[in-house]
Amino acid sequence: MPRDGAASITLADRPLLPAETLARVIDHVTDAVMVTDANLDAPGPTVLYVNKAFERMTGFPAGEMVGNSPRLLQGRLTDRAQFATMRSRLANGMAWRGEAVNYRRDGGAFVMAWEIVPILDETGRPSAFVATQRDATEAHARARRDRFAMLHDPITDALSIVGFRESFARLRDRTEGGPLDVAFVGIAGVESQLPLLSLADGAAMAREIKNRIRHALGDGMPIARLDAGRYAAAWPADPVALQLLQTIMAEPYLINGLPQHIACHVGVASWPEDGNDADELISAARLASYVGMQTGQDLVVFRRDTRAAMQRRRAIEQGLRRAAQQGELSLAWQPKLSLPERRLCGLEALLRWHSAELGAVGPDEFIPIAETTGSIVPIGIWVARTMVAALGQAWAAGTRVPASFNLSRAQLGSTEATDRLLAALLEAMQDAHLPPDAIEIEITESIDDTEETRAAIRRFAASGMRIVIDDFGQRFSSFGTLADLPASTVKLDRAITQRAGSGELCSLAVVEGLVSVARRLELTVVAEGIETEAEAEALGRLGCTVGQGYLFARPMPLAQALAVGA
Ligand code: C2E
Ligand code: CA
Ligand code: CA
Repeated sequence: MPRDGAASITLADRPLLPAETLARVIDHVTDAVMVTDANLDAPGPTVLYVNKAFERMTGFPAGEMVGNSPRLLQGRLTDRAQFATMRSRLANGMAWRGEAVNYRRDGGAFVMAWEIVPILDETGRPSAFVATQRDATEAHARARRDRFAMLHDPITDALSIVGFRESFARLRDRTEGGPLDVAFVGIAGVESQLPLLSLADGAAMAREIKNRIRHALGDGMPIARLDAGRYAAAWPADPVALQLLQTIMAEPYLINGLPQHIACHVGVASWPEDGNDADELISAARLASYVGMQTGQDLVVFRRDTRAAMQRRRAIEQGLRRAAQQGELSLAWQPKLSLPERRLCGLEALLRWHSAELGAVGPDEFIPIAETTGSIVPIGIWVARTMVAALGQAWAAGTRVPASFNLSRAQLGSTEATDRLLAALLEAMQDAHLPPDAIEIEITESIDDTEETRAAIRRFAASGMRIVIDDFGQRFSSFGTLADLPASTVKLDRAITQRAGSGELCSLAVVEGLVSVARRLELTVVAEGIETEAEAEALGRLGCTVGQGYLFARPMPLAQALAVGA
């Protein structure tokens, strides 16, 4: 067989067998063989010979083919455009190779791979053509199946990343510049949640997630399952679809017949702003989804500064691990004054972090991060020890006012963490010769308090420390919390302080009600965030006996704070 297009067969090449023997040999070849004359002009070549394999493949007996045109084999799906190239190669003595759809005698179509080689006479001109043909229908179907497998995810029939790239490119070309949204849907805790499911339940959930995405975006939009628990989708930007996606993903999932909540975090990026191809957009959307996982949001839209914000978050996470050892932490003290006399009656210790790498970072930024990474536990112990030691010195020097520090729920997440904090506090109080009621613990009220956190808070109260309910009135305030926790003080949030200061009747009534309930429960009411004389005056009149805020003093070094209202 010729190896390249220029090859051909010359009769003088081989010793000749008797014609009859030769015909038998060719009949035993498994490929279909057809020999035609070399007439390329209309009406084209005439068949001179076909072998047995040809008869089997096409159903045409030799008697019907010989003397006829090979066009007998052609039909509706035969691509005739390729025949022009074929003719010009053959006319120049070159072989031709290709694929074509041919038809059997019974009308059935099949794909065949064929090769036509000219036989050259002594002058080098084609005297006949030998066509060998092989049925390629199977190979074609296999190639189609392989391609489908490459473009799809076997479990959900959603696209694979390869398929998504192609479909996204087509969608992009179709929409001609109109914005597209690309979403990355990530299931939180895949590594810990999915392995708990049986394979069948896992597959059912994967299909359910894909169906929900399709339901939100409508049919025909590319949706890919990238791997366990991670999906991508694209659609012409549409806030309603996005809203629907967010809602629908948050609905409970039926697992083992029971509805369960699975935390899905949707990140969204937009073409053309955030990237040009599927990979760039998925990577931006994934980053946004990751931000959602960290901050507990269902839906985060990628913004130009998301990447930078992520990097800063990483730097804070890492910096916090060594902040205490590096001596980067300190405390600022904000005085609490009695109302209406305005004499110093307490202090609040507030954490400050001056990072060597990032400069000053505010607690509103780093405390939530420390809570999610767990570094709040050692940092909290540092705060407790440091504030007790400093307060001990103030007491020794003669100013005996109580001081508070802030405690977040993440610091009471395990009995072990609570044990360590309590032990550190008791030891520090002993070293500093402080009575336990010199220490107040400020903790925010929360509706999703567990019995464990309430028990932990009671342990602090049982050792004589006072409990302050912080930020009261900020979110889901309930008088129930006041009665539930062994608190001695309730601190009105700055928002309440402002409303009281505005003189608005309704707000005044709210504060009045709060104060009277607190009084009934024998709680001290502290107003925080007082910035104006009007606020201080109104709150004093409404029954708050303690105030704190910039009007009196900002957080400052302890020595200065002790001199305020003295
Ligand atoms: P917080 O406990 O509600 O503390 C009051 C915040 O309001 C402080 O912000 C304080 O500086 C600020 N502030 C005080 N007076 C005024 C005022 O008149 N106007 C305004 N606009 N703000 C005022 P800071 O120090 O940035 O602390 C923010 C939050 O960080 C604290 O809120 C507390 O939740 C948390 N935090 C601070 N230190 C610690 C700590 O050691 N441990 C824990 N777990 N959380 C802490
Ligand atoms: Ca506080
Ligand atoms: Ca507060």
